[in-house]
Amino acid sequence: MAPKSVLITGANRGIGLGLLKQFLKVEGIQTLIATCRDPSKAEELNQLKDSRLHILPLNIDCDESISKLHTEVEKIVGEDGLTVLLNNAGILLPYDVEGEKNRRTMLKNIETNAVSTAILTQEFLPLLKKAAEKNGGNGFSINRAAIVNISSTAASVEKIDGTFNGPLVAYRMSKSALNSFAKSASIDLAKYHILITSFCPGWVKTDMGGENAMYEIDDATKELVDNILTLGDAHHGAYLNRDLTVIPN
Ligand code: NDP
Repeated sequence: MAPKSVLITGANRGIGLGLLKQFLKVEGIQTLIATCRDPSKAEELNQLKDSRLHILPLNIDCDESISKLHTEVEKIVGEDGLTVLLNNAGILLPYDVEGEKNRRTMLKNIETNAVSTAILTQEFLPLLKKAAEKNGGNGFSINRAAIVNISSTAASVEKIDGTFNGPLVAYRMSKSALNSFAKSASIDLAKYHILITSFCPGWVKTDMGGENAMYEIDDATKELVDNILTLGDAHHGAYLNRDLTVIPN
């Protein structure tokens, strides 16, 4: 079994593109929707040739863009609804407690990583509910209907130990807010059997993670996708490493 459809945000580079490449290897997925801010500039994404792949524009910070995406996705998935919404797009604008005060920088981290991701998720709830009803089954399953958020261990208050503390303050705050949204949504959406899980992909070599990061994109995203495909009841509302071990809040 595999989910019928998967939508990935920020799929033009980094972890989003890596996740898409892994999902393209999964037989049984009928529709993959890759979003990026400007498809005309997404060279690597455009080189991926697969009849299941749809590339659509999305700026998650723009409500009009979110609404247009929803209209296009509805046309693609129709009465089947959307099985998996994978919220990957994110930013890391450095912010340091001892640095200059900058309300705009702090709010931008929170806007994109938490608020925009939450608004996008809300927009897609009707399509996720449709999928949950249509696919049926008992309880929660990635093959029924699911929201998968790419969060970060940085969001764990318990794990703040001084590692990378300096510039990550606003990023940490934003991902904690995203986790808080996910946990609340997991309770509110339980009645529809829409699974919601937050993951840390690990420290990965991307533009955000930098070249000193521990993991290659291919390795990290392969393990992540393998585990995403097993999500079920036990993972609803959870905050996990990509190997499915629990991250403390
Ligand atoms: P990158 O900076 O390499 O890629 C970020 C992606 O998000 C790009 O596709 C970017 O699009 C997109 N994006 C950013 N803002 C918006 C927006 N407003 N609207 C639409 N798309 C947007 O980061 P990674 O691939 O490393 O990160 C992916 C996710 O993984 C993020 O949520 C990040 O927080 C998380 N993460 C990453 C870790 C790492 O070590 N790399 C560790 C833990 C978590 P564009 O090209 O247009 O800018």
